[in-house]
Amino acid sequence: MPDIGLPPSRAALTVLAPAERPRAGMLGALAGTVRRYRVELLWMVFAVANYCAMVAWPYWETVPFHFVWISLTLVYGFRVWPVRATMGVLATVMSLTTLSITLDAFHGSQEWGELFEVPLMAAMFLAMVWHARRRVQAQHMAERRAEDRRSLLERQERFIHDASHELRTPVTIARGHLELLSGRVDPMPELEIALDELARMDAIIERLLVLAAADQPEFVRLSEVDVEPFLEDVFMRWSELAPRAWRLGPLASGHVVADPERLRAALDALLENAVKYTPEHAAIELRARPTGAGGLAIEVHDEGSGIPEAALARIFERFARADAARTRAAGGVGLGLAIVDAIIKAHGGYCRVASTPEGSMFAIELPRFAAEPLRALAR
Ligand code: ADP
Repeated sequence: MPDIGLPPSRAALTVLAPAERPRAGMLGALAGTVRRYRVELLWMVFAVANYCAMVAWPYWETVPFHFVWISLTLVYGFRVWPVRATMGVLATVMSLTTLSITLDAFHGSQEWGELFEVPLMAAMFLAMVWHARRRVQAQHMAERRAEDRRSLLERQERFIHDASHELRTPVTIARGHLELLSGRVDPMPELEIALDELARMDAIIERLLVLAAADQPEFVRLSEVDVEPFLEDVFMRWSELAPRAWRLGPLASGHVVADPERLRAALDALLENAVKYTPEHAAIELRARPTGAGGLAIEVHDEGSGIPEAALARIFERFARADAARTRAAGGVGLGLAIVDAIIKAHGGYCRVASTPEGSMFAIELPRFAAEPLRALAR
């Protein structure tokens, strides 16, 4: 055997004599076929054994006879064969069982009436065939629908991404020119409005691009986040920014598996909303507690205007607005909560909201929290 520099076991596996190669291939194919059809093969062994019993003990023939038919019906419940194969098996079982009972009826060891059992058992089997085929068809249809929906969503996301990307450059250029112009001429309300609207479009484009990226596997880069210092830092930045009655509630101590950048963006969006939709000096509280299921719930409570019940169910959808006029006045574009939701779903978590006219509570639930540093980050 030529030395090809492989370890002995590998070399022995790799260098087969030319004549042995087709044999190894055939054995592999045979093993694959046996694995694939193991249920059918087991049934065939069982059926042949029962048929032999029918022939060997003609007076007890009806017991193995029923075993053959019932086992055939059960097997078909698991495996739906093509129509031809099904009819072939049915014809074979009918002929053999009819033959055995007919011979025994001639010899007097069975009643002629037992022959009626054959079409009855065949009818039972055909009922299972009908039922199983309907089930398989329904399953195929559901799979096709899910696939269509997935590819439609994928195309929509790609379209949103491409359209947002294409819009970004002209909006940036138009903004740049208008900003130049506003520096050269006396203040003009029309110019201010145009600049405001372009800034809004810019914000929409940025957020649409984030949403379009949310399905990508690299959207979140997970690491262990030390909950207390992380939330304290987020809280400090916001409490210095807006005059509200800021409260840092109890914070669970431990580590959560999250993408710190994305988690911060989600919390920023919730706290920005809390500021936008509360009057000055109203209370806003940030807190975090472990959930029973080994997760972490981070909550933002505010004493703001609240969200009407009718709007609550769809509040995390794109362009959802509880009150369009108030939202626009507050400078919102209706994509902040959709981004929060996408970020938290990418972590395997979910968002919750509860609201009354006295205020709202937004919670994000992350699934992997431990009071101690987590050992493994593997998904
Ligand atoms: P926006 O950029 O318009 O704030 P969001 O997706 O963040 O978009 O919020 C969607 C809508 O939910 C807002 O327009 C607002 O009506 C409502 N909303 C969000 N957070 C709050 C809150 N803390 N209090 C009251 N309403 C809120």
